[in-house]
Amino acid sequence: MHQPPTEPRHSIYYDYRVHAPWLPADHPQPQPRQTVVIVGSGPAGLVTALELARHGVPSVVLTSELQVSQGSRAIVFTRRSMEILQQVGVAEQMTAHGLPWRFGNSYYRGQKVFRMEASHDPDDRFWPMLNIQQQYLEQYLLEACADSPLIALRWGNKVTQVRQASDHATIEVDTPGGSYPLETQWLVAADGGRSGIRSALNLQMEGASYEGFFVIADIQIDLLFPTERLAFFDPEWNPDNTILMHREPHGIWRVDYQLPPGESPEDALQPDSLKARIDAQLAMIGCAGTPWTLDWCSVYSARTLTLPDYVQGRVLFTGDAAHLLPIFGVRGANTAFQDAQSLGWQLAFVVKGLAGPALLANHSAERVGAAREIIDEAGKSTRFMAPPAGGFKLLRDAVLSLSLTHEFVRPLYHWRTSRPHAYTHSILNSPGDDNALFAAGPAHGAPPQNVRLAPDDFLLDHLGGGFDLLYFTEAAQVPDPLQAVVQAMRARGVPLRVVAIGAAQPVAGADVTLADPQGRVRARYGVPASGAAYLLRPDQHVCARWLTLDATRLHAALQQALQPVLPVA
Ligand SMILES: Cc1cc2nc3c(=O)[nH]c(=O)nc-3n(C[C@H](O)[C@H](O)[C@H](O)COP(=O)(O)OP(=O)(O)OC[C@H]3O[C@@H](n4cnc5c(N)ncnc54)[C@H](O)[C@@H]3O)c2cc1C
Repeated sequence: MHQPPTEPRHSIYYDYRVHAPWLPADHPQPQPRQTVVIVGSGPAGLVTALELARHGVPSVVLTSELQVSQGSRAIVFTRRSMEILQQVGVAEQMTAHGLPWRFGNSYYRGQKVFRMEASHDPDDRFWPMLNIQQQYLEQYLLEACADSPLIALRWGNKVTQVRQASDHATIEVDTPGGSYPLETQWLVAADGGRSGIRSALNLQMEGASYEGFFVIADIQIDLLFPTERLAFFDPEWNPDNTILMHREPHGIWRVDYQLPPGESPEDALQPDSLKARIDAQLAMIGCAGTPWTLDWCSVYSARTLTLPDYVQGRVLFTGDAAHLLPIFGVRGANTAFQDAQSLGWQLAFVVKGLAGPALLANHSAERVGAAREIIDEAGKSTRFMAPPAGGFKLLRDAVLSLSLTHEFVRPLYHWRTSRPHAYTHSILNSPGDDNALFAAGPAHGAPPQNVRLAPDDFLLDHLGGGFDLLYFTEAAQVPDPLQAVVQAMRARGVPLRVVAIGAAQPVAGADVTLADPQGRVRARYGVPASGAAYLLRPDQHVCARWLTLDATRLHAALQQALQPVLPVA
Protein backbone atom coordinates (compact mmCIF):
# COMPACT_ATOMS: atom_id res chain seq x y z
CA MET A 1 0.00 0.00 0.00
CA HIS A 2 1.30 3.43 -0.93
CA GLN A 3 2.35 5.39 2.19
CA PRO A 4 3.60 8.89 1.31
CA PRO A 5 5.39 10.79 4.11
CA THR A 6 2.94 12.49 6.47
CA GLU A 7 5.49 14.65 8.29
CA PRO A 8 5.76 18.18 6.86
CA ARG A 9 8.96 18.53 4.86
CA HIS A 10 11.68 20.64 6.45
CA SER A 11 12.13 24.22 5.28
CA ILE A 12 13.34 27.42 6.91
CA TYR A 13 11.15 29.68 4.81
CA TYR A 14 8.21 27.57 3.58
CA ASP A 15 5.44 26.11 5.77
CA TYR A 16 4.56 22.79 4.19
CA ARG A 17 0.91 21.81 4.45
CA VAL A 18 0.17 18.08 4.56
CA HIS A 19 -3.07 17.35 2.71
CA ALA A 20 -5.44 14.52 3.55
CA PRO A 21 -5.20 11.61 1.12
CA TRP A 22 -8.14 10.78 -1.17
CA LEU A 23 -9.19 7.26 -0.19
CA PRO A 24 -11.26 4.93 -2.40
CA ALA A 25 -13.35 3.73 0.60
CA ASP A 26 -14.79 7.24 0.98
CA HIS A 27 -16.12 7.29 -2.59
CA PRO A 28 -18.47 5.13 -4.64
CA GLN A 29 -16.74 2.32 -6.51
CA PRO A 30 -16.29 1.55 -9.33
CA GLN A 31 -15.44 5.05 -10.35
CA PRO A 32 -17.03 6.40 -13.56
CA ARG A 33 -14.82 6.74 -16.64
CA GLN A 34 -13.16 10.16 -16.55
CA THR A 35 -12.61 12.50 -19.48
CA VAL A 36 -9.03 13.41 -18.57
CA VAL A 37 -6.85 12.09 -15.75
CA ILE A 38 -3.62 13.97 -15.12
CA VAL A 39 -0.87 12.17 -13.25
CA GLY A 40 1.30 14.64 -11.34
CA SER A 41 0.75 17.95 -9.54
CA GLY A 42 3.97 19.65 -10.62
CA PRO A 43 3.96 22.73 -12.87
CA ALA A 44 3.12 20.69 -16.01
CA GLY A 45 0.18 18.79 -14.49
CA LEU A 46 -1.41 21.77 -12.74
CA VAL A 47 -1.11 24.17 -15.69
CA THR A 48 -2.60 21.49 -17.97
CA ALA A 49 -5.56 21.10 -15.58
CA LEU A 50 -6.09 24.87 -15.43
CA GLU A 51 -5.86 25.24 -19.22
CA LEU A 52 -8.36 22.41 -19.74
CA ALA A 53 -10.71 24.02 -17.24
CA ARG A 54 -10.55 27.33 -19.13
CA HIS A 55 -11.91 25.41 -22.09
CA GLY A 56 -14.61 23.77 -19.99
CA VAL A 57 -12.96 20.32 -19.83
CA PRO A 58 -12.95 18.59 -16.43
CA SER A 59 -9.95 16.68 -15.13
CA VAL A 60 -8.89 14.59 -12.17
CA VAL A 61 -5.34 15.24 -10.96
CA LEU A 62 -3.65 12.33 -9.17
CA THR A 63 -0.53 12.97 -7.18
CA SER A 64 1.48 10.49 -5.16
CA GLU A 65 2.59 12.93 -2.45
CA LEU A 66 0.60 14.76 0.24
CA GLN A 67 2.50 18.04 -0.06
CA VAL A 68 4.18 20.27 -2.62
CA SER A 69 7.65 19.84 -4.06
CA GLN A 70 10.65 19.12 -1.85
CA GLY A 71 13.07 22.07 -1.96
CA SER A 72 13.08 25.18 -4.10
CA ARG A 73 13.86 23.39 -7.41
CA ALA A 74 12.88 25.80 -10.23
CA ILE A 75 13.48 29.34 -8.99
CA VAL A 76 13.74 31.51 -12.14
CA PHE A 77 10.64 32.21 -14.24
CA THR A 78 10.80 33.97 -17.59
CA ARG A 79 8.54 36.68 -18.97
CA ARG A 80 6.77 34.27 -21.29
CA SER A 81 6.13 31.94 -18.35
CA MET A 82 4.57 34.84 -16.48
CA GLU A 83 2.36 35.58 -19.48
CA ILE A 84 1.21 31.95 -19.44
CA LEU A 85 0.69 32.08 -15.67
CA GLN A 86 -1.33 35.26 -16.14
CA GLN A 87 -3.64 33.26 -18.41
CA VAL A 88 -4.26 30.66 -15.69
CA GLY A 89 -4.66 33.29 -12.97
CA VAL A 90 -1.55 33.08 -10.80
CA ALA A 91 0.70 35.84 -12.14
CA GLU A 92 -0.36 38.35 -9.49
CA GLN A 93 0.72 36.18 -6.57
CA MET A 94 4.00 35.37 -8.33
CA THR A 95 4.75 39.05 -8.94
CA ALA A 96 3.71 40.05 -5.44
CA HIS A 97 6.15 37.63 -3.81
CA GLY A 98 8.92 37.16 -6.40
CA LEU A 99 12.12 39.09 -7.07
CA PRO A 100 12.38 40.56 -10.59
CA TRP A 101 15.74 40.92 -12.31
CA ARG A 102 17.48 41.32 -15.66
CA PHE A 103 21.26 41.43 -15.20
CA GLY A 104 23.82 38.67 -15.01
CA ASN A 105 27.52 38.94 -14.23
CA SER A 106 30.19 36.48 -15.29
CA TYR A 107 33.58 36.34 -13.55
CA TYR A 108 36.72 34.56 -14.63
CA ARG A 109 39.43 34.07 -12.01
CA GLY A 110 37.97 36.90 -9.94
CA GLN A 111 37.66 39.43 -12.78
CA LYS A 112 34.26 40.48 -14.13
CA VAL A 113 34.36 39.67 -17.84
CA PHE A 114 30.74 39.94 -18.98
CA ARG A 115 27.57 41.67 -17.91
CA MET A 116 24.44 40.26 -19.45
CA GLU A 117 21.49 42.59 -19.80
CA ALA A 118 18.08 41.17 -20.67
CA SER A 119 15.98 43.80 -22.37
CA HIS A 120 13.05 45.23 -20.43
CA ASP A 121 10.69 47.07 -22.69
CA PRO A 122 8.13 49.47 -21.17
CA ASP A 123 5.59 47.60 -23.34
CA ASP A 124 6.11 44.44 -21.29
CA ARG A 125 4.01 43.80 -18.20
CA PHE A 126 6.50 41.33 -16.73
CA TRP A 127 10.23 41.48 -16.10
CA PRO A 128 12.52 39.26 -18.14
CA MET A 129 13.06 37.06 -15.05
CA LEU A 130 11.39 36.59 -11.70
CA ASN A 131 12.86 34.54 -8.85
CA ILE A 132 10.57 32.59 -6.54
CA GLN A 133 10.77 29.07 -5.15
CA GLN A 134 8.81 26.26 -6.83
CA GLN A 135 6.85 25.48 -3.64
CA TYR A 136 5.14 28.88 -3.92
CA LEU A 137 4.43 28.43 -7.61
CA GLU A 138 2.82 25.03 -6.91
CA GLN A 139 0.84 26.48 -3.99
CA TYR A 140 -0.57 29.30 -6.16
CA LEU A 141 -1.43 26.83 -8.92
CA LEU A 142 -3.13 24.52 -6.40
CA GLU A 143 -5.16 27.44 -5.05
CA ALA A 144 -6.28 28.27 -8.58
CA CYS A 145 -7.20 24.59 -9.13
CA ALA A 146 -9.19 24.56 -5.88
CA ASP A 147 -11.20 27.52 -7.17
CA SER A 148 -12.22 25.57 -10.29
CA PRO A 149 -15.23 23.26 -10.09
CA LEU A 150 -13.78 21.37 -13.07
CA ILE A 151 -10.60 20.19 -11.31
CA ALA A 152 -10.57 17.42 -8.69
CA LEU A 153 -7.27 16.80 -6.93
CA ARG A 154 -6.52 13.48 -5.26
CA TRP A 155 -3.55 13.65 -2.87
CA GLY A 156 -1.64 10.48 -2.01
CA ASN A 157 -2.79 8.69 -5.19
CA LYS A 158 0.05 6.90 -6.94
CA VAL A 159 -0.42 5.40 -10.39
CA THR A 160 1.19 1.97 -10.51
CA GLN A 161 -0.08 0.40 -13.75
CA VAL A 162 -1.34 1.55 -17.15
CA ARG A 163 -3.26 -0.39 -19.78
CA GLN A 164 -4.51 1.04 -23.03
CA ALA A 165 -7.51 0.33 -25.25
CA SER A 166 -8.39 2.12 -28.49
CA ASP A 167 -10.72 4.64 -26.82
CA HIS A 168 -9.48 4.81 -23.22
CA ALA A 169 -6.75 3.95 -20.74
CA THR A 170 -7.15 2.07 -17.45
CA ILE A 171 -4.85 2.80 -14.56
CA GLU A 172 -4.33 1.20 -11.18
CA VAL A 173 -4.05 3.76 -8.40
CA ASP A 174 -2.46 2.93 -5.04
CA THR A 175 -3.41 4.98 -1.97
CA PRO A 176 -2.85 4.80 1.81
CA GLY A 177 -6.28 3.10 1.90
CA GLY A 178 -5.65 0.48 -0.79
CA SER A 179 -5.74 0.56 -4.57
CA TYR A 180 -8.50 1.06 -7.13
CA PRO A 181 -8.82 1.00 -10.94
CA LEU A 182 -9.74 4.11 -12.89
CA GLU A 183 -10.68 4.48 -16.55
CA THR A 184 -10.13 7.65 -18.54
CA GLN A 185 -10.57 8.74 -22.12
CA TRP A 186 -7.20 10.52 -21.98
CA LEU A 187 -4.30 10.07 -19.58
CA VAL A 188 -1.85 12.96 -19.21
CA ALA A 189 1.51 11.75 -17.94
CA ALA A 190 2.92 14.74 -16.06
CA ASP A 191 4.69 12.51 -13.58
CA GLY A 192 8.10 14.15 -13.83
CA GLY A 193 11.61 13.24 -14.89
CA ARG A 194 11.46 9.70 -13.49
CA SER A 195 8.05 9.07 -15.08
CA GLY A 196 6.81 5.64 -14.08
CA ILE A 197 4.29 5.82 -16.93
CA ARG A 198 7.11 6.32 -19.44
CA SER A 199 8.81 3.22 -18.02
CA ALA A 200 5.56 1.23 -17.91
CA LEU A 201 5.05 1.88 -21.63
CA ASN A 202 8.70 0.99 -22.22
CA LEU A 203 9.42 4.22 -24.09
CA GLN A 204 12.95 5.26 -24.93
CA MET A 205 14.15 8.87 -24.92
CA GLU A 206 16.54 10.23 -27.54
CA GLY A 207 19.51 12.46 -26.83
CA ALA A 208 22.52 12.72 -24.55
CA SER A 209 23.56 12.83 -20.92
CA TYR A 210 26.47 15.02 -19.90
CA GLU A 211 29.27 14.14 -17.53
CA GLY A 212 29.66 16.01 -14.31
CA PHE A 213 27.50 16.81 -11.34
CA PHE A 214 26.35 20.09 -9.83
CA VAL A 215 25.37 20.63 -6.20
CA ILE A 216 22.46 22.96 -5.49
CA ALA A 217 22.51 24.38 -1.97
CA ASP A 218 19.92 26.86 -0.72
CA ILE A 219 21.19 28.82 2.26
CA GLN A 220 19.59 31.41 4.47
CA ILE A 221 22.01 34.31 4.63
CA ASP A 222 21.98 38.07 4.74
CA LEU A 223 23.89 39.22 1.63
CA LEU A 224 23.63 42.75 0.30
CA PHE A 225 24.03 41.95 -3.39
CA PRO A 226 21.25 42.92 -5.80
CA THR A 227 19.06 40.31 -7.50
CA GLU A 228 21.38 39.47 -10.38
CA ARG A 229 22.71 36.18 -11.63
CA LEU A 230 26.34 35.58 -10.66
CA ALA A 231 28.49 33.07 -12.57
CA PHE A 232 32.09 32.27 -11.61
CA PHE A 233 34.29 30.34 -13.99
CA ASP A 234 37.44 28.58 -12.86
CA PRO A 235 37.57 30.21 -9.41
CA GLU A 236 40.54 29.60 -7.14
CA TRP A 237 38.66 27.37 -4.68
CA ASN A 238 37.06 25.20 -7.42
CA PRO A 239 39.58 25.19 -10.30
CA ASP A 240 38.28 24.35 -13.80
CA ASN A 241 34.70 24.33 -12.53
CA THR A 242 31.73 26.71 -12.51
CA ILE A 243 29.62 28.25 -9.72
CA LEU A 244 26.30 30.06 -10.01
CA MET A 245 24.55 32.19 -7.40
CA HIS A 246 20.95 33.43 -7.39
CA ARG A 247 19.04 35.46 -4.86
CA GLU A 248 15.69 33.91 -3.86
CA PRO A 249 12.90 35.53 -1.82
CA HIS A 250 12.73 35.07 1.97
CA GLY A 251 16.43 35.71 2.63
CA ILE A 252 17.60 32.62 0.70
CA TRP A 253 20.53 32.38 -1.74
CA ARG A 254 21.18 29.48 -4.08
CA VAL A 255 24.78 28.40 -4.47
CA ASP A 256 25.13 26.00 -7.39
CA TYR A 257 28.61 24.53 -7.88
CA GLN A 258 30.15 21.99 -10.18
CA LEU A 259 31.95 19.01 -8.68
CA PRO A 260 35.41 17.96 -9.76
CA PRO A 261 35.41 14.82 -11.95
CA GLY A 262 35.24 11.59 -9.97
CA GLU A 263 33.54 13.00 -6.86
CA SER A 264 30.34 11.15 -6.02
CA PRO A 265 27.07 13.00 -5.25
CA GLU A 266 26.89 11.21 -1.87
CA ASP A 267 30.32 12.53 -0.83
CA ALA A 268 29.48 16.00 -2.11
CA LEU A 269 26.35 16.21 0.07
CA GLN A 270 28.20 15.38 3.30
CA PRO A 271 27.80 18.31 5.74
CA ASP A 272 31.56 18.95 6.00
CA SER A 273 31.98 19.06 2.24
CA LEU A 274 29.03 21.43 1.82
CA LYS A 275 30.25 23.70 4.60
CA ALA A 276 33.80 23.93 3.28
CA ARG A 277 32.64 24.80 -0.22
CA ILE A 278 29.99 27.31 0.74
CA ASP A 279 32.44 29.01 3.12
CA ALA A 280 35.01 29.14 0.31
CA GLN A 281 32.48 30.70 -2.04
CA LEU A 282 31.44 33.27 0.54
CA ALA A 283 35.10 34.12 1.16
CA MET A 284 35.63 34.57 -2.58
CA ILE A 285 32.81 37.12 -2.83
CA GLY A 286 34.13 39.03 0.19
CA CYS A 287 31.62 37.69 2.73
CA ALA A 288 33.82 35.37 4.80
CA GLY A 289 32.34 34.67 8.21
CA THR A 290 28.80 35.77 7.35
CA PRO A 291 26.56 33.32 9.23
CA TRP A 292 24.39 31.03 7.11
CA THR A 293 22.07 28.06 7.55
CA LEU A 294 21.45 25.30 5.02
CA ASP A 295 17.82 24.92 3.94
CA TRP A 296 17.98 22.24 1.21
CA CYS A 297 20.54 20.67 -1.06
CA SER A 298 20.53 18.32 -4.00
CA VAL A 299 22.71 17.13 -6.88
CA TYR A 300 21.92 17.20 -10.57
CA SER A 301 23.55 16.42 -13.89
CA ALA A 302 22.68 17.83 -17.29
CA ARG A 303 20.71 15.71 -19.74
CA THR A 304 19.26 16.60 -23.13
CA LEU A 305 16.69 13.89 -23.77
CA THR A 306 13.24 13.82 -25.33
CA LEU A 307 10.64 11.29 -26.31
CA PRO A 308 10.28 11.41 -30.10
CA ASP A 309 6.47 11.54 -29.82
CA TYR A 310 4.45 12.87 -26.88
CA VAL A 311 1.23 11.15 -27.98
CA GLN A 312 1.23 7.41 -27.28
CA GLY A 313 -2.27 6.20 -28.00
CA ARG A 314 -4.44 7.55 -25.18
CA VAL A 315 -1.43 8.61 -23.09
CA LEU A 316 -0.07 12.14 -23.55
CA PHE A 317 3.34 13.05 -22.11
CA THR A 318 4.15 16.54 -20.93
CA GLY A 319 6.78 18.43 -18.92
CA ASP A 320 9.74 16.50 -17.53
CA ALA A 321 7.97 13.19 -18.25
CA ALA A 322 8.27 14.06 -21.95
CA HIS A 323 11.80 15.45 -21.89
CA LEU A 324 14.76 16.06 -19.63
CA LEU A 325 16.50 19.34 -20.30
CA PRO A 326 19.44 21.02 -18.59
CA ILE A 327 18.34 23.68 -16.14
CA PHE A 328 21.03 26.09 -17.41
CA GLY A 329 19.31 29.01 -19.09
CA VAL A 330 16.27 28.39 -16.85
CA ARG A 331 14.78 25.51 -18.75
CA GLY A 332 12.75 22.97 -16.80
CA ALA A 333 9.61 24.50 -15.37
CA ASN A 334 9.68 27.29 -17.99
CA THR A 335 9.49 24.68 -20.74
CA ALA A 336 6.82 22.73 -18.84
CA PHE A 337 4.47 25.76 -18.89
CA GLN A 338 4.68 25.99 -22.68
CA ASP A 339 4.09 22.23 -23.01
CA ALA A 340 1.07 22.41 -20.74
CA GLN A 341 -0.39 25.45 -22.44
CA SER A 342 -0.05 23.75 -25.82
CA LEU A 343 -1.49 20.44 -24.62
CA GLY A 344 -4.33 22.11 -22.71
CA TRP A 345 -6.06 23.80 -25.61
CA GLN A 346 -5.36 21.14 -28.24
CA LEU A 347 -6.60 18.31 -26.02
CA ALA A 348 -9.65 20.39 -25.05
CA PHE A 349 -10.55 20.94 -28.71
CA VAL A 350 -10.25 17.21 -29.44
CA VAL A 351 -12.29 16.27 -26.35
CA LYS A 352 -15.01 18.73 -27.35
CA GLY A 353 -15.09 17.44 -30.91
CA LEU A 354 -14.00 20.80 -32.33
CA ALA A 355 -10.99 19.20 -34.00
CA GLY A 356 -9.81 15.74 -34.96
CA PRO A 357 -6.92 13.75 -33.46
CA ALA A 358 -4.59 15.43 -35.98
CA LEU A 359 -4.55 18.38 -33.58
CA LEU A 360 -2.90 16.21 -30.93
CA ALA A 361 -0.37 14.97 -33.47
CA ASN A 362 0.28 18.64 -34.19
CA HIS A 363 0.77 19.35 -30.46
CA SER A 364 3.34 16.58 -30.29
CA ALA A 365 5.17 17.74 -33.44
CA GLU A 366 5.29 21.34 -32.19
CA ARG A 367 6.50 20.51 -28.69
CA VAL A 368 9.00 17.85 -29.79
CA GLY A 369 10.31 20.53 -32.18
CA ALA A 370 10.57 22.93 -29.24
CA ALA A 371 12.42 20.33 -27.14
CA ARG A 372 14.87 19.68 -29.98
CA GLU A 373 15.53 23.40 -30.37
CA ILE A 374 16.12 23.67 -26.62
CA ILE A 375 18.37 20.62 -26.70
CA ASP A 376 20.47 22.32 -29.35
CA GLU A 377 20.64 25.62 -27.44
CA ALA A 378 20.99 24.14 -23.98
CA GLY A 379 23.63 21.74 -25.24
CA LYS A 380 25.77 24.76 -26.12
CA SER A 381 25.21 26.32 -22.67
CA THR A 382 25.97 23.01 -20.99
CA ARG A 383 29.17 22.53 -22.97
CA PHE A 384 30.23 26.02 -21.88
CA MET A 385 29.29 25.58 -18.21
CA ALA A 386 30.63 22.05 -17.87
CA PRO A 387 32.66 21.20 -20.98
CA PRO A 388 33.38 17.56 -21.65
CA ALA A 389 37.11 16.81 -21.90
CA GLY A 390 38.99 17.34 -25.18
CA GLY A 391 38.10 19.92 -27.81
CA PHE A 392 35.14 21.43 -25.96
CA LYS A 393 37.22 22.11 -22.88
CA LEU A 394 40.09 23.50 -24.94
CA LEU A 395 37.75 25.91 -26.69
CA ARG A 396 35.93 26.96 -23.53
CA ASP A 397 39.22 27.59 -21.73
CA ALA A 398 40.48 29.64 -24.68
CA VAL A 399 37.36 31.83 -24.48
CA LEU A 400 37.81 32.26 -20.74
CA SER A 401 41.42 33.33 -20.93
CA LEU A 402 40.94 35.53 -24.01
CA SER A 403 38.02 37.26 -22.31
CA LEU A 404 40.39 38.84 -19.78
CA THR A 405 41.83 41.03 -22.49
CA HIS A 406 39.58 40.78 -25.56
CA GLU A 407 36.12 42.31 -25.57
CA PHE A 408 34.93 40.43 -28.67
CA VAL A 409 34.85 37.00 -27.01
CA ARG A 410 32.86 38.15 -23.95
CA PRO A 411 29.39 37.73 -25.47
CA LEU A 412 30.19 34.00 -25.67
CA TYR A 413 29.45 33.97 -21.94
CA HIS A 414 25.81 34.66 -22.72
CA TRP A 415 23.78 31.87 -21.15
CA ARG A 416 21.13 31.60 -23.93
CA THR A 417 18.13 32.12 -21.71
CA SER A 418 15.07 29.97 -22.33
CA ARG A 419 12.77 31.63 -24.87
CA PRO A 420 9.41 30.63 -26.24
CA HIS A 421 9.54 28.42 -29.29
CA ALA A 422 8.02 29.89 -32.46
CA TYR A 423 5.89 27.36 -34.35
CA THR A 424 7.17 28.75 -37.64
CA HIS A 425 6.40 25.65 -39.68
CA SER A 426 3.25 24.57 -37.86
CA ILE A 427 0.57 22.99 -40.00
CA LEU A 428 -1.89 25.26 -38.20
CA ASN A 429 -0.40 28.31 -39.92
CA SER A 430 -2.50 29.65 -42.77
CA PRO A 431 -0.81 29.11 -46.15
CA GLY A 432 -2.94 31.70 -47.94
CA ASP A 433 -2.42 34.73 -45.74
CA ASP A 434 -0.06 37.73 -46.02
CA ASN A 435 2.52 36.56 -43.48
CA ALA A 436 5.46 37.15 -45.81
CA LEU A 437 4.28 40.66 -46.73
CA PHE A 438 4.53 42.10 -43.21
CA ALA A 439 7.60 44.20 -42.47
CA ALA A 440 7.27 43.87 -38.67
CA GLY A 441 5.26 42.18 -35.94
CA PRO A 442 5.08 38.57 -34.75
CA ALA A 443 5.20 36.17 -37.70
CA HIS A 444 3.65 32.73 -38.20
CA GLY A 445 3.92 30.64 -35.07
CA ALA A 446 5.43 33.39 -32.90
CA PRO A 447 4.03 34.33 -29.49
CA PRO A 448 2.36 37.74 -29.38
CA GLN A 449 4.11 40.98 -28.47
CA ASN A 450 2.73 42.91 -25.58
CA VAL A 451 1.89 46.64 -25.80
CA ARG A 452 1.21 49.02 -22.92
CA LEU A 453 -2.17 50.67 -23.51
CA ALA A 454 -2.35 52.61 -20.23
CA PRO A 455 -0.16 52.66 -17.10
CA ASP A 456 -1.60 49.35 -15.87
CA ASP A 457 -3.32 48.02 -18.97
CA PHE A 458 -1.62 45.84 -21.58
CA LEU A 459 -2.71 44.24 -24.83
CA LEU A 460 -2.21 40.68 -23.53
CA ASP A 461 -4.50 41.40 -20.56
CA HIS A 462 -7.34 41.34 -23.11
CA LEU A 463 -6.41 38.16 -24.98
CA GLY A 464 -6.59 34.42 -24.45
CA GLY A 465 -9.00 31.62 -23.67
CA GLY A 466 -9.84 30.93 -27.31
CA PHE A 467 -8.92 32.19 -30.77
CA ASP A 468 -8.49 35.96 -30.86
CA LEU A 469 -8.98 37.94 -34.06
CA LEU A 470 -7.12 41.24 -33.71
CA TYR A 471 -8.88 43.43 -36.24
CA PHE A 472 -7.27 46.82 -36.92
CA THR A 473 -9.97 49.32 -37.79
CA GLU A 474 -11.16 52.86 -37.27
CA ALA A 475 -14.60 52.08 -38.72
CA ALA A 476 -17.78 51.89 -36.67
CA GLN A 477 -18.33 48.17 -37.25
CA VAL A 478 -16.66 44.93 -38.25
CA PRO A 479 -17.78 44.20 -41.84
CA ASP A 480 -20.86 41.96 -42.01
CA PRO A 481 -19.20 39.09 -43.95
CA LEU A 482 -16.47 38.81 -41.27
CA GLN A 483 -19.07 38.88 -38.54
CA ALA A 484 -20.92 36.07 -40.33
CA VAL A 485 -17.80 33.85 -40.28
CA VAL A 486 -17.28 34.60 -36.58
CA GLN A 487 -20.91 33.77 -35.78
CA ALA A 488 -20.74 30.52 -37.76
CA MET A 489 -17.61 29.43 -35.88
CA ARG A 490 -19.16 30.27 -32.55
CA ALA A 491 -22.27 28.32 -33.52
CA ARG A 492 -19.97 25.27 -33.94
CA GLY A 493 -18.70 25.90 -30.39
CA VAL A 494 -15.34 27.38 -31.38
CA PRO A 495 -14.29 30.05 -28.87
CA LEU A 496 -13.43 33.07 -31.00
CA ARG A 497 -13.31 36.70 -29.90
CA VAL A 498 -12.96 39.79 -32.04
CA VAL A 499 -10.67 42.47 -30.60
CA ALA A 500 -10.98 45.70 -32.57
CA ILE A 501 -7.88 47.86 -32.35
CA GLY A 502 -7.72 51.51 -33.31
CA ALA A 503 -11.20 53.02 -33.08
CA ALA A 504 -11.92 55.53 -30.34
CA GLN A 505 -15.50 54.29 -29.89
CA PRO A 506 -16.72 50.70 -29.39
CA VAL A 507 -16.80 48.90 -32.74
CA ALA A 508 -20.04 47.03 -33.50
CA GLY A 509 -19.40 43.31 -33.91
CA ALA A 510 -16.25 43.36 -31.76
CA ASP A 511 -16.14 41.85 -28.27
CA VAL A 512 -13.59 44.41 -27.13
CA THR A 513 -12.41 47.68 -28.64
CA LEU A 514 -8.96 48.96 -27.76
CA ALA A 515 -8.18 52.52 -28.76
CA ASP A 516 -4.71 53.02 -30.18
CA PRO A 517 -4.43 56.82 -30.38
CA GLN A 518 -0.67 56.87 -30.99
CA GLY A 519 -0.71 53.85 -33.30
CA ARG A 520 1.60 51.92 -30.97
CA VAL A 521 -0.14 48.57 -31.38
CA ARG A 522 -0.19 49.10 -35.12
CA ALA A 523 3.53 49.87 -35.19
CA ARG A 524 4.41 46.87 -33.06
CA TYR A 525 2.34 44.58 -35.26
CA GLY A 526 3.61 46.08 -38.53
CA VAL A 527 0.11 47.13 -39.61
CA PRO A 528 0.17 49.81 -42.34
CA ALA A 529 -3.58 50.47 -42.68
CA SER A 530 -7.06 49.69 -41.42
CA GLY A 531 -8.47 46.34 -42.46
CA ALA A 532 -5.37 44.34 -41.42
CA ALA A 533 -5.73 41.53 -38.89
CA TYR A 534 -3.96 38.84 -36.86
CA LEU A 535 -5.45 35.51 -35.84
CA LEU A 536 -4.03 34.15 -32.58
CA ARG A 537 -4.52 30.56 -31.45
CA PRO A 538 -5.76 29.84 -27.92
CA ASP A 539 -2.11 29.66 -26.77
CA GLN A 540 -1.76 33.17 -28.26
CA HIS A 541 0.69 32.13 -31.00
CA VAL A 542 0.05 33.70 -34.41
CA CYS A 543 -1.48 31.35 -37.00
CA ALA A 544 -2.46 33.91 -39.65
CA ARG A 545 -2.06 37.61 -40.44
CA TRP A 546 -3.39 39.68 -43.26
CA LEU A 547 -2.79 43.18 -44.62
CA THR A 548 -6.44 43.08 -45.71
CA LEU A 549 -8.83 40.53 -44.33
CA ASP A 550 -11.91 39.17 -46.01
CA ALA A 551 -14.39 36.50 -44.99
CA THR A 552 -13.03 33.79 -47.30
CA ARG A 553 -9.52 34.12 -45.92
CA LEU A 554 -10.69 34.19 -42.31
CA HIS A 555 -12.77 31.06 -42.84
CA ALA A 556 -9.85 29.30 -44.54
CA ALA A 557 -7.45 30.19 -41.70
CA LEU A 558 -9.81 28.89 -39.01
CA GLN A 559 -10.42 25.69 -40.97
CA GLN A 560 -6.66 25.22 -41.28
CA ALA A 561 -6.17 25.66 -37.55
CA LEU A 562 -9.02 23.34 -36.57
CA GLN A 563 -8.72 20.54 -39.11
CA PRO A 564 -5.03 20.48 -39.98
CA VAL A 565 -3.99 18.10 -42.69
CA LEU A 566 -0.97 16.15 -41.52
CA PRO A 567 1.93 15.98 -43.97
CA VAL A 568 2.36 12.55 -45.53
CA ALA A 569 5.24 10.79 -43.78
C1 LIG B 1 16.75 18.82 -7.60
C2 LIG B 1 16.11 19.62 -8.71
C3 LIG B 1 16.49 20.92 -8.94
C4 LIG B 1 15.91 21.64 -9.97
N1 LIG B 1 16.31 22.92 -10.18
C5 LIG B 1 15.74 23.62 -11.18
C6 LIG B 1 16.10 24.95 -11.44
O1 LIG B 1 16.95 25.52 -10.76
N2 LIG B 1 15.50 25.61 -12.48
C7 LIG B 1 14.55 25.00 -13.27
O2 LIG B 1 14.00 25.63 -14.19
N3 LIG B 1 14.20 23.76 -13.03
C8 LIG B 1 14.76 23.05 -12.03
N4 LIG B 1 14.40 21.79 -11.82
C9 LIG B 1 13.46 21.20 -12.76
C10 LIG B 1 12.03 21.58 -12.44
O3 LIG B 1 11.78 21.37 -11.07
C11 LIG B 1 11.16 20.70 -13.33
O4 LIG B 1 11.53 20.95 -14.68
C12 LIG B 1 9.70 20.97 -13.18
O5 LIG B 1 9.27 20.72 -11.88
C13 LIG B 1 8.96 20.08 -14.18
O6 LIG B 1 7.63 20.02 -13.86
P1 LIG B 1 6.80 18.69 -14.10
O7 LIG B 1 5.42 19.05 -13.67
O8 LIG B 1 7.02 18.17 -15.46
O9 LIG B 1 7.41 17.59 -13.12
P2 LIG B 1 7.54 17.57 -11.54
O10 LIG B 1 7.57 18.93 -10.99
O11 LIG B 1 8.67 16.67 -11.23
O12 LIG B 1 6.18 16.91 -11.05
C14 LIG B 1 5.93 15.55 -11.15
C15 LIG B 1 4.70 15.24 -10.33
O13 LIG B 1 4.31 13.90 -10.55
C16 LIG B 1 4.02 13.28 -9.31
N5 LIG B 1 4.19 11.84 -9.53
C17 LIG B 1 5.32 11.20 -9.90
N6 LIG B 1 5.07 9.88 -10.06
C18 LIG B 1 3.75 9.72 -9.81
C19 LIG B 1 2.89 8.57 -9.83
N7 LIG B 1 3.33 7.36 -10.16
N8 LIG B 1 1.60 8.74 -9.51
C20 LIG B 1 1.11 9.97 -9.17
N9 LIG B 1 1.89 11.07 -9.15
C21 LIG B 1 3.19 10.94 -9.47
C22 LIG B 1 4.96 13.95 -8.34
O14 LIG B 1 4.55 13.81 -7.01
C23 LIG B 1 4.87 15.39 -8.84
O15 LIG B 1 3.71 16.00 -8.32
C24 LIG B 1 14.94 21.05 -10.78
C25 LIG B 1 14.55 19.74 -10.53
C26 LIG B 1 15.11 19.03 -9.51
C27 LIG B 1 14.67 17.60 -9.28
